[in-house]
Amino acid sequence: MTILCNFKYLKPKSLQEAIDILAIEDSAKNDGSGAASKKVIAGGQSLIPLMKMGLTDFDILIDVSEIPELKIVELKGDFLEVGAMIRHSELESYSDIGLKCPILIKVAGQIGDPQIRHRGTIGGAIAHGDPASDLAGCFMALKATAVVASKQGVREISFADFYEGFLQTTIKEDELLVSLKFPVNSKNEEFYKISKRAQDWAISGLVVVEINDQLSFGIISMGSKTLHFEIDKSELSDNLDSVISQIESICSPTEDIYASKQYRLHLLRTFLTKYRNSYLT
Ligand SMILES: Cc1cc2nc3c(=O)[nH]c(=O)nc-3n(C[C@H](O)[C@H](O)[C@H](O)COP(=O)(O)OP(=O)(O)OC[C@H]3O[C@@H](n4cnc5c(N)ncnc54)[C@H](O)[C@@H]3O)c2cc1C
Repeated sequence: MTILCNFKYLKPKSLQEAIDILAIEDSAKNDGSGAASKKVIAGGQSLIPLMKMGLTDFDILIDVSEIPELKIVELKGDFLEVGAMIRHSELESYSDIGLKCPILIKVAGQIGDPQIRHRGTIGGAIAHGDPASDLAGCFMALKATAVVASKQGVREISFADFYEGFLQTTIKEDELLVSLKFPVNSKNEEFYKISKRAQDWAISGLVVVEINDQLSFGIISMGSKTLHFEIDKSELSDNLDSVISQIESICSPTEDIYASKQYRLHLLRTFLTKYRNSYLT
């Protein structure tokens, strides 16, 4: 299958160069019809299928795979900062992540197959805005902050405010996702995922972490965007049914050829029960 749109391909070697390209107004557009639209490509695992289906169109494709500032992994006190261009398969090679945030490696290890994990990146998985993204569920539970940069400077977006809807984030057109920052003081972390076949997107998924006696949930494939819910851990141990009802009330699962709404909700209830029985009894 061919790629349907025509575009100029650019491969900046620094963050500043990428930001400058994102800020280009209309110089790249020959027909004078306004600002040239740009698209960032990282691992290409989500974008290239959209291009092949003709579902995305742009004038400039910005390949960010050789920008060193997007490849950092830094422990800063009680926070880890992981660059957007770190690939899923690379996470386990960083001892700081393995020691301080093993749930991230666990979640990334269940994304797709080895080929997907070797190409796909943290930034791509987050910026794509797919409610079925396992990593989005993980960063949601971890209460991460997304760091984005543009000509206007650096902006931090709380993950709770990051998603607006299906494939929609609050990243602006001239902004590049640089990294994800998250606290590393969580414990009793768990990841549940049921897929239609091994190594595939979740029909329903849940990431749970405990932070300061609060349980923080990242809820996957249960609505048009990744969802977050938080409660005191005593609530889940004492009143499972009430917590299940509260979480169900924020979910709006879709019905498709893989699962009914009822089945998706059933899976979520099962995950919550399993977590309660494993960690709180
Ligand atoms: C067969 C298959 C199975 C998969 N299974 C799973 C699964 O089980 N679980 C799961 O969670 N995911 C799954 N995925 C998705 C996978 O995790 C992708 O790698 C990920 O969604 C996109 O990462 P990428 O680096 O390839 O992004 P790309 O495809 O390069 O980009 C995706 C989107 O993000 C934008 N983008 C990328 N980087 C940046 C940046 N730094 N700043 C701003 N915007 C940016 C792009 O413009 C594009 O809109 C699967 C994908 C495939 C093809």
